Amino acid sequence: MFEKLKNLKTYEAGKPVELVVRKYGIKPEEIIKLASNENPYGPSPKVIQAVKQNTPFMHRYPDDSYYELKEKLSKKHNVKNSNIIIGAGSDQILEFAIHAIKPKKVLTAGITFAMYEIYSKQVGAEILKTPSKEHNLNEFYEIYQKQKPEIIFLCVPNNPLGECLDAKDVFDFLEKIDSETLIIIDGAYQEFAAFKDKNKEIIPSKILDYPNVLYTGTFSKAYALGGMRVGYGIANEYIIKNLYKLRPPFNITTLSLIAAVKALEDEEWVKKGIENNFKQMQKYIDFANENNLKYINSWTNFIVFYIKNSTKIANELLKKGIIIRDMSSYGFDALRITIGKPEENEKLLKILREIN
Ligand SMILES: *Cc1c(COP(=O)(O)O)cnc(C)c1O
Repeated sequence: MFEKLKNLKTYEAGKPVELVVRKYGIKPEEIIKLASNENPYGPSPKVIQAVKQNTPFMHRYPDDSYYELKEKLSKKHNVKNSNIIIGAGSDQILEFAIHAIKPKKVLTAGITFAMYEIYSKQVGAEILKTPSKEHNLNEFYEIYQKQKPEIIFLCVPNNPLGECLDAKDVFDFLEKIDSETLIIIDGAYQEFAAFKDKNKEIIPSKILDYPNVLYTGTFSKAYALGGMRVGYGIANEYIIKNLYKLRPPFNITTLSLIAAVKALEDEEWVKKGIENNFKQMQKYIDFANENNLKYINSWTNFIVFYIKNSTKIANELLKKGIIIRDMSSYGFDALRITIGKPEENEKLLKILREIN
């Protein structure tokens, strides 16, 4: 019955707090979760207050046009409402795009966000990966010329590695790809990259001139609304109009909609979180340097460093109530750690220093 799903893997999300509570009997408030690139500070108090105030309206569907959210996003990104589609996380936008095109071939970096492959295989596509783990646009172009994939994914910056292409190189690449191929620029961590280095900033309004480019953004990372499931796509009206054909009605919730709108009214909060992120990241870089561990320079809210026995270390940490991501399933020993609050990072680093 399910032969067509034979080659499909289930997405492995970061381990939930609940699992560690059940398995190791640790109190939920003592668990440190640094595995899913969530914002450890949570959303602005104004967001929380607005959601609370609106709980009595949860029996109502949201405004299905998402007018207010699109108004705010269109001002922020200097595009029109008609250039925006809202999704249940940016994941849903990726799903719309792949299901809309039903590609035969999809091209991605050697190691990148797992959902590209999962959605592609759902429609029977073959996944082409560059030999390099990290994004290498020369390799992308070479494979593109030979194989003519219908979709190319650029994850800028890349999850789970953290590296980031220069915006200029991305735009040079767009120029070389003909309009039969859709290029999806996944900007899930763009807020972090743009803060750290303006050369990494992809300005979504600049992609509207291309007939074949879709930008995706999310409220799950910098905006701290992972649990609310809100993301968006920005593209020319022709692309957006077609993606709309895949969208179920009311695809985000009444409370998610309120939360996203309010989050955009407190950009100061978001900026503070990003500033703290890079300050705290330095502690991990110091740790790596002290111990001669190689790490990948990161433009995101997580950092990867290579360390022997990463599976064993991740399991030991789990028993102590600390959840991080072991990268050994990618074929090399490394850990991906989401940057937490100061006290969380201190505690984790103390244990890592003891183990190492
Ligand atoms: C987190 C993430 C997303 C999407 O997250 P949503 O919660 O679905 O918005 C998309 N791409 C990458 C690379 C991510 O890390």
